[in-house]
Amino acid sequence: MKLAALGEVMVEFAPQQGRGGAAPLFALSFAGDTYNTSIYIARNGIQVSYATLLGDDPYSERMLQAMGAEGLDTDAIERLPGRCPGLYTIQNSADGERQFTYWRGESPARELFLDERCRARLQDHLRQMDCLYLSGITLAIMAPEAREHLLTFLDSFRRDGGRVAFDSNYRPRLWASKEAAREAVGGFLQQSDIALLTLEDEQLLWGDRSAGKCLDRNARHHLEELVLKRGPEPVLLQYDGELTALDVPAVRDIVDTTGAGDAFNAGYLAARLKRVEPELAVAAGNRCAAQVIRHRGAIIPAADYLPEREMPAGGLARA
Ligand code: ADP
Repeated sequence: MKLAALGEVMVEFAPQQGRGGAAPLFALSFAGDTYNTSIYIARNGIQVSYATLLGDDPYSERMLQAMGAEGLDTDAIERLPGRCPGLYTIQNSADGERQFTYWRGESPARELFLDERCRARLQDHLRQMDCLYLSGITLAIMAPEAREHLLTFLDSFRRDGGRVAFDSNYRPRLWASKEAAREAVGGFLQQSDIALLTLEDEQLLWGDRSAGKCLDRNARHHLEELVLKRGPEPVLLQYDGELTALDVPAVRDIVDTTGAGDAFNAGYLAARLKRVEPELAVAAGNRCAAQVIRHRGAIIPAADYLPEREMPAGGLARA
């Protein structure tokens, strides 16, 4: 089973504890929602290709090396001469919240699916996949005409038996308006088989008053699998005409919930690609997220990560 994820990976500068009141030092790493998910899917033993555009600068080079070290396939990545990837910094405010500042307006990833030749090459690559994964952030950074091309491609990909997984990941400042976001996200849900949604984002985008209202509203998309994440609250799974609430095991020593949803998606999708049934895949999603929130940052060191091994159906306790 092979999955390709489409999106943007950025340079991340995260502050480190300054010693003795010294000015903070920043640790350099790479992150981005679909990228984070890709890393954990690959760590869980599924072949993953990451599709994006990078520049020809030293940071793009280091990103490719990092992807290679994680075992990601980088064959679909185009390089744009004279360009460099987007960047963000993290600041820890006095109340312990993390504040993110972005420089991503000129990121090469914004040209995903735009240029005709690059698009043709990418489509050939994506047709070899069993599953494609993208998010509302992927859509938000793409040009509207490129989104249309991608939508048309997903239609033919699904007709040929491929499956599409989508996380709406709504980030208001990436969109021109809420209406534009609704139209794009609604259109892509129509071309999705698996939706991995977060209630908080859904409420922000659609104004749903409850989880029930959110599920009702999504009925029109005829999704095969709908997973609604709600932080520590039970995950709601709609599958095969049934709605199930699955408890999230309590996690002690939570350090940073950045990337919890991305990690959950990875645990879930990797399990589904191994043909694990959806309820057990939710448990795998919870386990992946639980590891990540006990560490600082969206991508925890590979040495600290416990991969999901082959999971014989029924061989794991329910969440
Ligand atoms: P997002 O990161 O997209 O905002 P959520 O906050 O809903 O997503 O969290 C995604 C998943 O991460 C949850 O379904 C759960 O598995 C795990 N998770 C998040 N917060 C907690 C928590 N406080 N305790 C245990 N698990 C959590």
